[in-house]
Amino acid sequence: MSAKTPNVDTLALHAASRKAPTKAQAVVPPITLATTFERGVDGSYPDGYSYTRTGNPNRSDLEQALAKLEGGSDALCFSSGSAATMALLMALAPGDHVIAPKGAYHGTKCILTKIMNRWGLDVSLVDGHDMVAITQAIKPTTRLLWVETPSNPLLDITDIAAVVERARRARALVCCDNTFASPVLQNPLTLGADFVMHSTTKSIGGHSDVLGGALIARQDSEIWQRAKQVQKEAGAVPSPFDSWLTLRGLKTMPLRVRQSSSNALAIARYLHTHPKITHCYYPGLEAHPGHALAQCQMPHGFGGVLAFRLGSRQRAMDLVAKLELVTRATSLGGVESTIEHRASMEGPDTKTPDDLVRMSVGVESAADLIEDLRAALLQLS
Ligand SMILES: *Cc1c(COP(=O)(O)O)cnc(C)c1O
Repeated sequence: MSAKTPNVDTLALHAASRKAPTKAQAVVPPITLATTFERGVDGSYPDGYSYTRTGNPNRSDLEQALAKLEGGSDALCFSSGSAATMALLMALAPGDHVIAPKGAYHGTKCILTKIMNRWGLDVSLVDGHDMVAITQAIKPTTRLLWVETPSNPLLDITDIAAVVERARRARALVCCDNTFASPVLQNPLTLGADFVMHSTTKSIGGHSDVLGGALIARQDSEIWQRAKQVQKEAGAVPSPFDSWLTLRGLKTMPLRVRQSSSNALAIARYLHTHPKITHCYYPGLEAHPGHALAQCQMPHGFGGVLAFRLGSRQRAMDLVAKLELVTRATSLGGVESTIEHRASMEGPDTKTPDDLVRMSVGVESAADLIEDLRAALLQLS
């Protein structure tokens, strides 16, 4: 590639375009299922691969592509997004303090408050978009500030550069869960974050058929080397086929993310003024409190997820039951639109309003999706 950085569409397609090293010159790399690799006669490993837990060509392809897409120096792939989160937290030391948003992904909060707290991490959960609350929570032992923007499920927007500035002053690091935005819409490393975390299960894989996660670093550091050690030694790594499938999804990610975002904006605008909808949360709406910030931080689109409320749990459940095109399922970022009553997914200790549904908008026609919602809303008493 030339010195000029190619745009995201070109990168998504060609960043990992390793061809098969055979006479056939297949345009797609083969899946290297081998768990072990032969040494040279001098005992060395000619291509650097020795055992698939520590490294595999398909995983390397995916890691290199994700590092390029986020503008990072290195990436590590895992068997799930949660395994990626765990690896970064395990690279910290017992007694280190972590600040994370109350509105973080439910599983991330469980890891912090039910697993890593027992392991000795000191965790404070704060209002994630309240810079005063974040600043006040900083202690001398604060090592990591966790950011998730847009947040789940209320789509709050956090000012990444502002969090980075507070963290720098405290000599702490910043990791941004960039799953909702994807590398197409937001690049936290260019805003100064130290690490990006992705659940590649979502819009990077994009087809609801492969679980995975990734960490990407802006630069090398002691913590990064420890996260790398956790990946290789603890071994929550994606299989070669998982890596290959995720990379296949990545190629069309920019197209899918743009289509989902423009569909989600059309749907949010429709629901926002609908008399049976009491609240609609989408950062692309001018009425959203984070709209101006979102326009600066994610200028190419606001993502494919929106949430809305219907006034009661029963109405929320009824709407979800009456939709025909939109699938009742959790998760997000797939080509197909899905919808769920979020509080029942998160369980009894959730703070999510009981009348809220979260929708992940796919790449169907926006008109057909709006028609499905219109017909279902019409049937609500
Ligand atoms: C799904 C998700 C995760 C967890 O990823 P898994 O691949 O399910 O382990 C973390 N953060 C966000 C924002 C997510 O949507």
